[in-house]
Amino acid sequence: MPFNALGLAPSLAQAAAELGFTAPTPIQTEAMPIVLSGADLLATAQTGSGKTAAFALPLLQHWLTHPPAAGSRPLQTLVLVPTRELAAQVGEVLRSLAQPLAQRPKIVVAFGGVSINPQMMSLRGGADIVVATPGRLLDLMDNNALKLGGVRHLVLDEADRLLDLGFADELGRILAHMPNQRQTLFFSATFAPAVEALAHQMLRDPQRVDVPAMASDVAVIKQRVFEVDDKRRAQLLRQLIKDNGWERVLVFVASQYAAEHLAAKLHKGDVFATSFHGGLSQGARKQTLQEFKEKRWDVLVTTDLAARGIHIDQLPVVVNFDLPRSAIDYTHRIGRTGRAGESGLAISFVTAASAAHWRLIEKRQGLSLPREHLAGFEPAEDAPAAVHDPEGTGGIKGKRPSKKDKLRAAATQKTDS
Ligand code: AMP
Repeated sequence: MPFNALGLAPSLAQAAAELGFTAPTPIQTEAMPIVLSGADLLATAQTGSGKTAAFALPLLQHWLTHPPAAGSRPLQTLVLVPTRELAAQVGEVLRSLAQPLAQRPKIVVAFGGVSINPQMMSLRGGADIVVATPGRLLDLMDNNALKLGGVRHLVLDEADRLLDLGFADELGRILAHMPNQRQTLFFSATFAPAVEALAHQMLRDPQRVDVPAMASDVAVIKQRVFEVDDKRRAQLLRQLIKDNGWERVLVFVASQYAAEHLAAKLHKGDVFATSFHGGLSQGARKQTLQEFKEKRWDVLVTTDLAARGIHIDQLPVVVNFDLPRSAIDYTHRIGRTGRAGESGLAISFVTAASAAHWRLIEKRQGLSLPREHLAGFEPAEDAPAAVHDPEGTGGIKGKRPSKKDKLRAAATQKTDS
């Protein structure tokens, strides 16, 4: 089906074609007519499925059909994203799609970690579309650099992340400045039930689109599990990199310190590795990511900062050196590979201490993967007796029993005895 059969203006279909998008992806086919109709939308679509263009193209069309009156430029469209890198990436997609248009909207990208002054300058005289992280948007509002009273379209990209507790306060303040009469669009690869309930409070009669993982998406990610002793993980990783000649590997660890530490250790072992995490300056973050994209590093050791939305072309291998905290984070992490039809490999290291946690992730993912051992790295450790996991959750996030669950369990015990 061509783009214009979905109601997209020929100029925008042409703009998409210039980026090599000849036919819409499934999320684009489903979501674009809804976004064009002006309805609210809650869309789940896997990373790499083309969801940015699924909202970018119809929102550009809204702007083309409702251009600002001469002399005024109230902000019409606000796209909120959880990370600086994603802001830059979404801004780039919007700009590339708008580039060939005869009439182009003014698009401003704003995120923290860099000086606010250039962003304030670019907002002078208003903007049509702003892509921002919540904290910097609030700073700009506090500086009277922009107002949200004219916003007609609000997008939350990686919405479940923006709706979780870390952003709740900032999001509430932003929404309070926005008109109620607006179109709201939520896009994410995953929505936990509690987050979805919260999302529904913010949407008006939303349409729902769930695009299953594309065949060219998750299905092509081969998932493997290696059992290994905790202390030998770095050596195992080095060995796997050397044996397989991997040149582009994204390695996830649990903390900024671990990212630095592991990158340094690999570097000493003659692996071109560097780290990428939220403790770096914005300049360093940008440069490191760029260098990795340009293939100047073989290995990027990172935290969950890089798990969301970031697109890196030709990333064949993702390694969970430390397991993710939740099954949802697992989906986001492995989704960095196998994008846009390429094949991908996701490897998880499981130690005696993390085995119970892994079983839960597997269960939630509906997986049952064979445990592999690399010769010379067979695990010798037993599960530490000191691991205190009375709830049997494997420490998995969000699965602690509630007060109600505990009362219920106590009542059952009483009746059992
Ligand atoms: P996203 O899910 O928005 O991060 O997009 C993932 C990748 O798919 C990006 O590299 C896009 O350029 C590409 N893409 C998006 N839409 C299409 C399309 N209709 N045809 C081909 N590639 C696309």
